[in-house]
Order: sequence, then structure tokens, then C-alpha cells
Amino acid sequence: MSHSSFRSDDGPSDDSCSPFREPRRSARPSYLKCRHCGLEFSLDAPGTRHRNHCPHCLWSVHLDDTPGDRASLCRGGMEPIAVSVDPRGEWHVLHRCGTCHTIHLNRVAGDDDERALLALAVRPLTRVPFPV
Ligand SMILES: [Zn+2]
Ligand SMILES: [Zn+2]
Repeated sequence: MSHSSFRSDDGPSDDSCSPFREPRRSARPSYLKCRHCGLEFSLDAPGTRHRNHCPHCLWSVHLDDTPGDRASLCRGGMEPIAVSVDPRGEWHVLHRCGTCHTIHLNRVAGDDDERALLALAVRPLTRVPFPV
């Protein structure tokens, strides 16, 4: 059974508020605490407008349906599983949600940990499934 009416669970009933206002726009946090390693990091990062992964361990949280929209209700932890490079030479991190298994591609930020990125990039080479 699903209710489509708008309800707020975070306080006493406030009938004076319009249900059509956007509740989270002004309250968007500028810092996130990494669930994986505990680091607190700024969402304002060099090289990207939509940082959503930890610059230290590269883990992310499933917040977006499309980058930056914060529209997903999943909130699952997203594991960095691979690095991809686009034709312009820009690196992206692939994240897979541990809850719903969605995969997202996120551009790396200028202050992402370089060793973590390299470790992720060479990970398949450390476990080659055939003799070389
Ligand atoms: Zn982290
Ligand atoms: Zn998810």
C-alpha cells in the first residue's frame, strides 16, 4: 500500500508550510562524513561540481539518480570498483551500490588520493585470471 501524499516525518505537523516547497535545497550540507573511513570532506572539490565520493578511500554513497540531483532514496554505500578513462584523458571512478547494485561513473576530483586511484586502476592486473 503506498501513499502519494506529501508528509514530513521530521517534526510536529506544520500545516502552514506549502507542500510544494523544495525542502532540502537550502539545507544541503557542504560537508560529508565518509561512512567507510570516517574522513570528513568538503563537497566543494577542485575539478568537479558534484563530488560525492571520499577523496581518501574513494567510497561514495548512493545519493543521486543523475549526478548532483540528490534524488535517490537508496543511500547505500557505493564501492569504488574500477577506473575508466575517457577519450580526453579524464579519469572516472566506477562506483557500485552495495544495496541496489546500481553502477555510477564519477569524474575524479583534483584532490582524490592518487595512490588510491592507482591501486584501483591496477587492481585487475593483480588478479589476472589467465597465465601471462
Ligand atoms: Zn573514505
Ligand atoms: Zn543504491
